[in-house]
Amino acid sequence: MGRLENKIAVVTGGAQGQGAAIVRAFVAEGARVVIADVADEPGKELATEIGANALFVHHDVSSEESWRAVVAAAEDTFGPVNVLVNNAGILRFGNLGDMPLEEYELVCSVNQRGTFLGMSAVAATMKQQGQGSIINCSSVEGLAGMGSLAAYTGTKFAIRGMTKAAALELGGRGIRVNSVHPGMIDTSMTREHGGDLAMEYGASKIPLRRVGHPDDVAPLYVYLASDESGYVTGAEIAIDGGVTATHAFGG
Ligand code: NAD
Repeated sequence: MGRLENKIAVVTGGAQGQGAAIVRAFVAEGARVVIADVADEPGKELATEIGANALFVHHDVSSEESWRAVVAAAEDTFGPVNVLVNNAGILRFGNLGDMPLEEYELVCSVNQRGTFLGMSAVAATMKQQGQGSIINCSSVEGLAGMGSLAAYTGTKFAIRGMTKAAALELGGRGIRVNSVHPGMIDTSMTREHGGDLAMEYGASKIPLRRVGHPDDVAPLYVYLASDESGYVTGAEIAIDGGVTATHAFGG
């Protein structure tokens, strides 16, 4: 029996990168999964590859209406949602004074508002079921700052904070809420902002001496979605090759 039998999950940003690895790992453990993403082509391809245990739904996490539709689609196809992975996110670099307000607000609307709306959208059904696991993707930028990333860092700290507030609010109803804090992971997000050079430089600075792969991250999500983590809530878990283990210059 899989570790996620009877789990019905929504994974935002599930079409690509870490989200796609999470989707594959969930299905391999017996879950049925809605891949909720704005990226239609890769989302449809992944759903086709997986078959009956996956459904792709076009979904913009910053839209409340879109959330209502995705939760309804999950329920119609598989049943009530009992796992939510708020994984969708965008990264934008920009110095203070240079980043246009519209860009700042775009980062907030996807990363921060998207996570708030997601938790809000599943709270009622999870309360009704008396169970649920919500996993919010923050970042190492939700544990410490990084220059030129005020917008992104702000949203990732907000996700960490909202996670704890939600864990306190929902714990009495059997719903657990945790945040995951990946370090540098090899996906299109990191490749778009520096390519191979950034990967090499990043690897040289990471205590484990390599950039993470989406498959490094997915097992943590499986654990947090499963009943094995039944006593874990309000936690922040770094999965970063050790980068947040030090305050020293250059490790
Ligand atoms: P990615 O760019 O490969 O995947 C992000 C996915 O989110 C894409 O499929 C994209 O289409 C989707 N998305 C973007 N905007 C959306 C929206 N409005 N609604 C729905 N889906 C949307 O990047 P990734 O590395 O897989 O990122 C996953 C999460 O991990 C993000 O929250 C990111 O901030 C976080 N993270 C990434 C790294 C890293 O080094 N890659 C490190 C720490 C945290």
